[in-house]
Amino acid sequence: MLFYLFAKIAYFSQTNQIVCMVFLLPFLAIVAGYAGALWFQKTSANIAYLLAFSGAFLLSITFFELLPQAFEYGGKSVGVALLIGMLLQIGLDYFSKGAEHGHVHHDAPLNNFPLVLLISLSVHAFIEGFPVAHSQHVLLGVVVHKVPIALILSIYLLKANIRKIHTLLFLILFGCMTPLGTYLALYFSPILPYLNYINAVAIGVFLHVSTTILFESSKDHKFNSLKLMTILAGAILAFFL
Ligand SMILES: [Zn+2]
Ligand SMILES: [Zn+2]
Repeated sequence: MLFYLFAKIAYFSQTNQIVCMVFLLPFLAIVAGYAGALWFQKTSANIAYLLAFSGAFLLSITFFELLPQAFEYGGKSVGVALLIGMLLQIGLDYFSKGAEHGHVHHDAPLNNFPLVLLISLSVHAFIEGFPVAHSQHVLLGVVVHKVPIALILSIYLLKANIRKIHTLLFLILFGCMTPLGTYLALYFSPILPYLNYINAVAIGVFLHVSTTILFESSKDHKFNSLKLMTILAGAILAFFL
């Protein structure tokens, strides 16, 4: 009896822990990015390799896990949702100026709260939350992808002429968006029949973002063996997960 109780508690705390991780890790990725920004701001370290690794890792998990899963439950309509996701990300890029794949092009420093940037990043992060709900590998891929993005975004926000409290508010709101998507995928049952399509939209978003990262990471199309190794490492790691 006692053993049964212990087993039950252990099981409960274990599942609870996993649920906690699903919500906590994507948020912690933003915290890590911000902490990294405070650190790197002075040393101006090259994070291009981290970005290339994260792009390859996310793309590989999409190819190995998400894509086959999505097409298992649907044919052409899943393909349409995938395409919608890609087009959506192209649209979001117009507002975020590429912040989802690791750079922000604004010539002049900002003085106001960058609301348009926050909204476009939030839509992206919200959609990202759905496939995270049912795969720990996707969770890992999204977390690894978020760290360099949050780092670059934080550096940008810290350098832009906006108040520190606004920077923190921006990052906290942005950080809550992926867990919000995950929450809906897990506990909001009316969404269930559409979950595979929403995941397909997320796949489209991932494909656009990660291929753009890889495309942009080769500066002037020069061969960089270290970068190629980094990309291969990301892909191989994703394969053996
Ligand atoms: Zn770009
Ligand atoms: Zn993202």
